[in-house]
Amino acid sequence: MCRFKCFGIKTTINASVMILVFLITYILIKFFLPKATKQNYSSVEYFIGGLFGSVLIIASILLHEIAHIYTAKYLNLVTPHEYNQLHQNKTKYT
Ligand SMILES: [Zn+2]
Repeated sequence: MCRFKCFGIKTTINASVMILVFLITYILIKFFLPKATKQNYSSVEYFIGGLFGSVLIIASILLHEIAHIYTAKYLNLVTPHEYNQLHQNKTKYT
């Protein structure tokens, strides 16, 4: 699990992202890259291409989520974490 602050908001990247990277890499190597390239590359070259493509896909998802954080901050919206902190005492004891 990776935790960091983005625009002042606590952000977590779950460890399950590694499973997603593995699955996307596998799908790219097994199904997409052999048909898309139409050439015989070595399995190492396919692995590098699949891993690179997978990391690009995950990076684009991360960028998308960071845009959500930026938008929430820009519009002064209350994030779920901030909401829970504001109403922590209320929700615990009522
Ligand atoms: Zn979205």
